[in-house]
Amino acid sequence: SIPVKAVKEWKYTTCNYCSTGCAIEIGLNEAGKIVTSRGHAGADVNRGKLCIKGLLEHELFDSPGRGTMPLMRDKAHLPFQPTSWDKALDHTAAKIKEIQDKYGRDSFAVVSTGQLLTEEFYTLGKLVRGQIGTNNYDGNTTLCMASAVSGYKRSFGSDGPPGCYGDFEHTHCLMAFGSNLPEQHPIIYWRLKEALEKRKFPLIVVDPRVTMLAQFADIHLPLTPGTDCVLINSMMHVILKEGLQDQAYIDAHTQGIDELRALVADYDPKTAQHVCGISEDMIRTVARLYASAPAAMSIWTMGINQSTHGSDGVVNINNLNLITGNIGKPGGTSLSITGQCNAMGTREWSSCSGLPGYRVLEKEKDRKTVADFWGIDESFFPPKRGLTQTDIFPAIETGQIKGLWLVATNPMTSMPNQPRIRKAMENLEFLVVQDVYEDVETNQYSHVYFPAAVWAEKEGCHTNTERRVNLTRNVLPAYADSKPDFWIFNEMAKRFQDRNAIHFPEKPEGAFEEMRKLSVGTGRTLDISGMSYDRIEAARGIQWPYSEAQAQADEARVGPAGATQMLERQDFLGNPRLYTDGHFQTDSGRANLIPVRFVNNNECPDAEYPFWLNSGRVVEHFHTRTRTGKIGNCNKYSPTPYMEMNPDAAAELGLEHQSYVRVVSRRGDAVVMVQLTHRVGRNMLFIPFHFHDCVNRLTLGLLDPYSRQPAFKQNAARIEKIDQQ
Ligand code: SF4
Repeated sequence: SIPVKAVKEWKYTTCNYCSTGCAIEIGLNEAGKIVTSRGHAGADVNRGKLCIKGLLEHELFDSPGRGTMPLMRDKAHLPFQPTSWDKALDHTAAKIKEIQDKYGRDSFAVVSTGQLLTEEFYTLGKLVRGQIGTNNYDGNTTLCMASAVSGYKRSFGSDGPPGCYGDFEHTHCLMAFGSNLPEQHPIIYWRLKEALEKRKFPLIVVDPRVTMLAQFADIHLPLTPGTDCVLINSMMHVILKEGLQDQAYIDAHTQGIDELRALVADYDPKTAQHVCGISEDMIRTVARLYASAPAAMSIWTMGINQSTHGSDGVVNINNLNLITGNIGKPGGTSLSITGQCNAMGTREWSSCSGLPGYRVLEKEKDRKTVADFWGIDESFFPPKRGLTQTDIFPAIETGQIKGLWLVATNPMTSMPNQPRIRKAMENLEFLVVQDVYEDVETNQYSHVYFPAAVWAEKEGCHTNTERRVNLTRNVLPAYADSKPDFWIFNEMAKRFQDRNAIHFPEKPEGAFEEMRKLSVGTGRTLDISGMSYDRIEAARGIQWPYSEAQAQADEARVGPAGATQMLERQDFLGNPRLYTDGHFQTDSGRANLIPVRFVNNNECPDAEYPFWLNSGRVVEHFHTRTRTGKIGNCNKYSPTPYMEMNPDAAAELGLEHQSYVRVVSRRGDAVVMVQLTHRVGRNMLFIPFHFHDCVNRLTLGLLDPYSRQPAFKQNAARIEKIDQQ
């Protein structure tokens, strides 16, 4: 560890890993070199704490594998040649135009990430829609959050998690579905743990695996994989049958109760228990506990979203909270815990399914507003949705997509069914990879590589899980000849001015100003017109909606934005909750209660493939290890892939702890080390997804019909012994 006295100056920024949104201070020594990091004590989110990833994040600035200059080559897999930015950008723009001229505008696609800053998402969206002229533009957030977005839209009429971390301090019952906070979001877990220690309320964890959160639960429901709809329908059956619902809330603020009641009548716990694997008594107990709590909340993560019925799962959690009156009140909410640091930013400002500010692509008025604001004709981007990331790769396979630009995403490790993705990549005529790291696996297939700056070499905003917009400030200039993503998008836009002459602000704050203006009059909850960089930094983050009128009222009350006094008095914090007045974003203003019938479309174990194969995260690593794989202590504690296996199942196959096995699915195989543990049942296996050429060689990735999010967690597999010599 670095002695704090070696630090000459602390610089404020925001962690760039998970969606918790911790505020970090980076310590620089006399020579201006970064030597350490610490959590910002004045930030409401993390109150001085950081997890292992945040604490070591400063080691990324000069870690091995960083891209130092643009690279080009004629064919994938040949040696790269260094080149200048002008040549790389000119060549890329020319290739995009050549492909589009030959095959049509939709033959080119762009996939970004949840890792960039919001101004960068907005600028990339403007470039792709307004100049490149395609809706084939998606974020890798389709792999993690698309079902939550879709579920929120179907239930409430718009996206946006309605609650906040502060709800832990008010709730009387918390139900966590497929969410393992201590490993995935350690600082959110710390907030929950503090609340639990102060006020003992029941923690109910729904997860087929005995996760770390399940170990701390009062009640753990180890349900059969993929049957959450059955469990929730059965809970609602009990609630409605026993009159435990909040009828006044249902009558005043929802629509569809009759249809929901009719459907859940079919889910008597007596029969449901045989499908979801949770006993009748336990279903009744948790239903009564949840419905009788003065305020109850649900959180969820990938256990719900990454499923063939992820969107339905979210809708059903919303149904449960709506019939018990648990939306928009302290401690009563449906809080999707997002994945990446700025997954919310892509949702708010750009993706294939929406326009900036949660505007709707299919609505002519919304398209016209955006096109007028940018100064182009709205017919340039048609109302038809583009392809999601998960549909882009099949379209490459069939030849519909010929060129691809990947920004800070690594599908050669992250996408399910890797053998198929590999084939698709070989089919591309032109691939651009833009990433901080030159050694990212996907770069093997590229023709052009753009070296990008790492997070605190740039400036802009993140939005975290609880809609809190936070600021990342430049701590250092960009490394070698790498460039901020914002700069790269702006330079590319200059090369498309012949298609549409659009103004692109030179600085991120200029883009933020455009977003601020575009957020007004959407008829949606996302209003950031009262925010500015100074106000955000002073308050250590502001939760939207935050209108100009609210900001002015705050200023009249406390005086103009001044960092110190706002921080001390916790002013300008925005709105912690949505729908507090019971008015939703649907046409009627009422929330939709949508009946969800269980359909078993998972790849279930059978005689040939007798195990459920599940995947997930470990605390030391983030996504495909492009960053944490370069940090000494993260690798020290989690050096290699492994597979959790139940000791009884292992004994039947004659396997020992730390022996190596071949895991086989209908897609492919992978060799991993066995870790014996009772965290998984006899017919279940678990492998972390971070490692290249491992679990995603096996996953099937069937898609949710609404969100197009893949099911990573329900796959069938078998084990083959291999010679340990
Ligand atoms: Fe960063 Fe998430 Fe860890 Fe906070 S919890 S330090 S945001 S990785």
